[in-house]
Amino acid sequence: MFHSNTNYQRLQGSYLFSTIARKVNAFKETHPEVELIRLGIGDVTQPIAPSIIKAMHAAVEEMGNPDTFHGYAPDLGYDFLRKAIAGEYREMGCSIAEDEVFVSDGAKSDSANIQEIFHKDAKVAVCDPVYPVYVDSNVMAGRSGEWETEKNRYSRYIYMTCSEENGFTPEFPEEDPDMIYLCFPNNPTGMTISKEKLQEWVDYANRIGAVIIYDAAYEAYISDPEVPHSIYQCSGAETCAIEIRSFSKNAGFTGVRLGFTVVPKALKDADGISMNSLWARRHGTCYNGAPYIIQKAGEAVYSEQGQKEIREQIAYYMKNAAYIREGLESIGLTVYGGVNAPYIWLKCPDGMDSWTFFDRLLTEAHVVGTPGSGFGAAGEGFFRLTAFGTYENTVAAVERIKAWLA
Ligand SMILES: *Cc1c(COP(=O)(O)O)cnc(C)c1O
Repeated sequence: MFHSNTNYQRLQGSYLFSTIARKVNAFKETHPEVELIRLGIGDVTQPIAPSIIKAMHAAVEEMGNPDTFHGYAPDLGYDFLRKAIAGEYREMGCSIAEDEVFVSDGAKSDSANIQEIFHKDAKVAVCDPVYPVYVDSNVMAGRSGEWETEKNRYSRYIYMTCSEENGFTPEFPEEDPDMIYLCFPNNPTGMTISKEKLQEWVDYANRIGAVIIYDAAYEAYISDPEVPHSIYQCSGAETCAIEIRSFSKNAGFTGVRLGFTVVPKALKDADGISMNSLWARRHGTCYNGAPYIIQKAGEAVYSEQGQKEIREQIAYYMKNAAYIREGLESIGLTVYGGVNAPYIWLKCPDGMDSWTFFDRLLTEAHVVGTPGSGFGAAGEGFFRLTAFGTYENTVAAVERIKAWLA
């Protein structure tokens, strides 16, 4: 009789968002008259900008004409998009070449798959709280060790606690990791890392011979000039960092699917093996290229008009973020994030735990958010709200929370 991948047995319980959905559905069944406002899941609500839709339509037309039809896309991405992406890096002062950019169907798959090009025994460091994909993908690959229920953590991971005390930026761990997952601006805390601090991480990774896997999905939300948009703005990052980006949060591609990963050619393992070649091989073997139509839409994101339109959308969400932050602060809550990221990380009042706050917010204020403890043990006592709703819903939700807690 065959055996399944036993690593999967170590994955923890039902996924956070399915538990939330179950609780929300149970409440709706007993209270059909209540209209809930959802500031929970990190999905956008604004439609894709007009100039991007126009480019997508034009690409659809091309697909219906024998002279302009496109079949399989190049595995690693069309040159026009890889050029546009490398061009943006150049504008940021980072020397990233087109052949260091790998176009994909999004940052979730890339951040889950990137671990495949590392040794099976590599030591993994993750922040706590954390975007769960980094954790679970390495569980599936067998790098996690056992789940320790009393600690709410895996035995073989190196956890880097992000708390109020360290301003939600991790400190160097005591034990040396091989792979370090960092995400800034951060999901779920909405907090950022300074250029200076990120440079320290790059120096540290180069010193100990580790790779930083840098998830910059929220780069477009940065407004503070001191906050780096890319890890390659730090010197020496090309020998120790992989960067993952997405079109989901900056341009509303959550349902369209497009992202990319940068693996510099200078990134080599202990034996001098190029990680760029390994990722090219992995990508070419397991992936058949993002659709032409979608890559044309992605190219339009980089046009002058596209940039103008997506900046307006980001400003719309950040107006929501400011409204939530200021509204909650006005009733005395302690609130983090929401300045350079579309997430607000609030401290549950009166020492309430995250799930109690979730239940009471749902049943008493009729607002849905995400319990901080769902992102890791260190998220206990915190709660995430997103700025991705409509302005009207955001305002209504904040008024409900104020009326509930004030
Ligand atoms: C939303 C999100 C992603 C996923 O982006 P997709 O490109 O839609 O797959 C990746 N990382 C973080 C931290 C995210 O919040």
